[in-house]
Amino acid sequence: MTDSKKSPGLLIVYTGNGKGKTTAALGMCVRAVGWGWRVCILQFIKGSWKYGELEGIKRLAPEVELHVVGQGFVGIGDDDKSFEEHQEAARQGLAEVEQILISQAFQLVILDELNNAIQLGLLTREDIQKILDIRSEQQHIVITGRDAPDWMIDQADLVTEMKEIKHPFQKGVKAQKGVDW
Ligand code: ATP
Ligand code: MG
Repeated sequence: MTDSKKSPGLLIVYTGNGKGKTTAALGMCVRAVGWGWRVCILQFIKGSWKYGELEGIKRLAPEVELHVVGQGFVGIGDDDKSFEEHQEAARQGLAEVEQILISQAFQLVILDELNNAIQLGLLTREDIQKILDIRSEQQHIVITGRDAPDWMIDQADLVTEMKEIKHPFQKGVKAQKGVDW
């Protein structure tokens, strides 16, 4: 890297088994919109976003865009897609991220549940490295999901591990409106 080349935007990772990863990313989104930035959120596991955040995000349009990639939950419920179909969808999602970064139209790009797609074996380090390498100095990237791989943590600028201390689920309280969805 030459001296004249500016540093890329930050790579921010929210991981761990406690609640708050997507919530933290949404908080960054709100803050960014406050500065007039444009934000693109890509949801890597389809169906993981529920009513509250979907409706809330709509109110932040057109500054905020939400793109759903993927073909539903892998191997769960009514999943009738093959592994290859899921993999193809995840790769198409990354190709979309590449175009989004090249367009320079967004200052914040949130890749929600990307770590889950890696964990499921749908995407490799090489697939993702390409994306991370093309971000410019005006583009911050936020990645969420449990089990962030070590190689991602190594190159991230900010990593926060949400650690479960207590969660209502532990005492049988179901997910609830306005808190979980
Ligand atoms: P949130 O979207 O609430 O910030 P998250 O992104 O940290 O949560 P995910 O792993 O994406 O968590 O899980 C999504 C769903 O699972 C959310 O409805 C969330 O409330 C719930 N959840 C998250 N962490 C826990 C936990 N430790 N125990 C039980 N449910 C959880
Ligand atoms: Mg989440």
